[in-house]
Parts: sequence; structure tokens; C-alpha cells
Amino acid sequence: MTALLHERVHLTLPDSKRHLPFSFTCPEGASGLRVEWEFGPPGGGEVRSMINFSLRGPAGFRGAGHRHGTRHEAVLGEHFATPGFLPGAITPGRWEVTLHTHLVAQGTHGELVVTALNEPPALAPTDPVIPANERTPGAWMMGDLHCHSNHSDARWTVSELARAATARGLDFLALTDHNTTSGRAVLGGAAPHLLQLPGVELTTFYGHAVALGVEDCPDWTAPELGCGMAELASDVTQSGGVFTLAHPFAPGDPICTGCTWTYFDLRPEGAAHLEVWNGPWRGDHNERALAYWYALLTRGHRVIATAGTDAHGPNYDPGHGFTFTPRVWDGVALLAQLRAGQTYLSRGAGLDLEVRSPAGPVPLGSTAPGGRWLARARWSVVPEGSTLIWVADGAREAVSIEGEGQLRWEGEVRGWLNLEIRTGNGELHTLGNPVFAERCPA
Ligand SMILES: [Zn+2]
Ligand SMILES: [Zn+2]
Repeated sequence: MTALLHERVHLTLPDSKRHLPFSFTCPEGASGLRVEWEFGPPGGGEVRSMINFSLRGPAGFRGAGHRHGTRHEAVLGEHFATPGFLPGAITPGRWEVTLHTHLVAQGTHGELVVTALNEPPALAPTDPVIPANERTPGAWMMGDLHCHSNHSDARWTVSELARAATARGLDFLALTDHNTTSGRAVLGGAAPHLLQLPGVELTTFYGHAVALGVEDCPDWTAPELGCGMAELASDVTQSGGVFTLAHPFAPGDPICTGCTWTYFDLRPEGAAHLEVWNGPWRGDHNERALAYWYALLTRGHRVIATAGTDAHGPNYDPGHGFTFTPRVWDGVALLAQLRAGQTYLSRGAGLDLEVRSPAGPVPLGSTAPGGRWLARARWSVVPEGSTLIWVADGAREAVSIEGEGQLRWEGEVRGWLNLEIRTGNGELHTLGNPVFAERCPA
């Protein structure tokens, strides 16, 4: 073992929300690297310092360990890496470890140590392959577009997540760990029966965003002081990905660092996709996001609503919302439907929703000539005491429903038409994305 870097780091409160790079040179012939970061004191009460690190080698990004706690370690070799980091060649040359000070709650002393390993790190046992859930595929498929594993700060492993997703009947899954894509290869091995989308949650200091369809983690450190996110969003969408503003009204610092959306250069009204259902429905931040989304639709913005369980283990919650979309067999087609908003969000209504404009049937998320529209909703499972609400241009028409059944709706639409199903206690059970009416030429 050879020491390559040994830094003593002193941080004060104003050092919060900074990226502190430290470079070191990896010699020829090293079989592995160990990076250790330890700091103290941890902070007081509920307000805990969150300072973790990412790693970059001569060939590019090598992962991140977005976790809480005061002791962090990453070991990397050609065929092994600590969860969050990417295995691969230990290339000689200039490497960089960057401390990310998400929150410095009080004056802090830390030590950052990098050592070169003479022996390759031992291989971890391979995770077992999760058996598929045998069932007849229906016309709609169900998935989760925002969840975490032990490759960032979750309590469950990738295999445990895959097992829960399979038991819940999911057809597709996007693992969106914080600032790393290292879990994707593990998920591919553990659950080949799930259609998988590459994903990552860009966990910046001023807001979180879910990027789907991106193979590598985009550089999330560029946005500063609430600016620079518009450019990052455009990079993701231009490379074929889908960029979603996550949990815009979640409580932020110091409880959940960076969780409230505060970017000045990308307001939620400028977003194409907005996560209105994050985690279990309970809690008022989702109700606020939904009301905000309706206000955007009323003002003529074309924004697609999304759901993400944001599950961190140890299981899915009955209040989680999943994404439903017409069945496809590959990730490219799935991503295209998600981009278009051909989706409804639900705990599992078994919903079939058809909208017909004067020009014919219209898929959810698309646009049709305004006028007299017909819609039909059929559902197979909703709890007793539920209410179905048609929302046409913001006007709400509620009908009591339960069990299995169907309803028709007919009326004038000039802006948009969507539907909600609420449970007896008023919580959201299902939310359909709208069909939009063509606007009059200006
Ligand atoms: Zn988040
Ligand atoms: Zn998340």
C-alpha cells in the first residue's frame, strides 16, 4: 500500500455547498485504490453535516458515494468497486477526488486519505438472479421511475429493490441513485425480466432532477447558486433523455439538503416533466405540487406530470404512485412514451382511459383540436369510497366509484382534459396525464 494523498480539511459554515477538488497521481502498476474520508463532529440534533465525495480518473467519472454519516470509504479495482463507484482499469495518471459539502452544520475537521493497493480488491459475491413474476401481460405496463439503492443512500441493495419491484408486479424500473449510475449493471444481472431504463437523480445543492435515458451521470456540479440548471436540462434532453424536476416543494435545508427546487433559470413552468407525486402521497408537498401543476396547465404550459416512489427501502409503500403506459418491449419505445406523457400515475387502478376528439382517438399527453370531446374510463380495482373526478379546463366533475366499473364523459374542451381518482380519505389514488386542446393561433 502506498499513500498517494493525505489532506487535513477544515470547514466552517460558509463552506456549505462547495465542491473541493483534491488531485493525486496514480502510479504505474497499482491494482486498486482506497479513498477514505472521515470528519467530525457530525452536527447537532436533526441538523447533520453531509459531506461526501466523488471520484474521477484519467478516463473519466468513476462514481460517487452520496451517503450520510461521518465515515466514507471507496475501494476500486478492475473487477470490483464499493457500491456507488465504477469498477475498471486503475489507469496511471492524474486522478481527482472531490468533496461535496451539501451541508456543513458546524465547524468541521476531516481527513482525506488515498492509498494505492498492491493487490486487487476481493470480489464481492454475485447477487442471485430474482425469478420473474409469472403473469399475463396486459395492455398497460407499470413501473417506477425514481428509486434508490445502496449505491447511494438507500437501506436496501439493488437485489432487494428488484425483488420488491417484481413482487409489486412492476414491468419496468429506472434505478435513479444520487449522482451515480453504478447500480445499473447490478440491476441488469439481478432482474433481467424487468425492462430497465438508465437513470440518475442529479442531486444538486439547489434542487434535485431525475434524468432518464442517460448512460453516464451528467456533471451535476456546474450549476451554482441556483443557476445553470437550464443548460444541464437541455444537455439531457438533447442527448435523448427525459429530464424531470423532482419533488419541487419537498422540505429543503437543513432537513433534506437541496430538496426544494430553487433554480432561478429553470422554474417549474419551464419544465417539460414535473414530479407531482413523490414518495407516498401523504404530506402536503405533493398536494402543493399537484395544485401548482394545474395552475401551469391553466396558464397554457404543456407540462407532463410524473410519479416516483423515491423508495429507499425496505419496501414499497401502499401510498406510492407508479407510472402506467401502453405496453412496449424496448427502452427506446418506453422512453418515447414517457417523453410524450402517454402515461397515467396510480397505486394500481387497472385503468383503461380513452379520449376521442372530433378528429378521432387521442393518446394521453398528445394534442387534438378543441371542441366536443368524449372520454371513457374503465377500471378494475379501486377501493370502496373512491371518487373519480374529470378535470376539463380546470372544472372538476366528481362521481363516486368503487370496485370495478366504467364511466363516460362528454363535453367541451378548450385547454385540456384529464382525470383523478381520490380515495375515501381524499388522498390521490390515480392521476391521468392530460390530452391537450390545440390553442387558437395568437
Ligand atoms: Zn431527491
Ligand atoms: Zn430520490
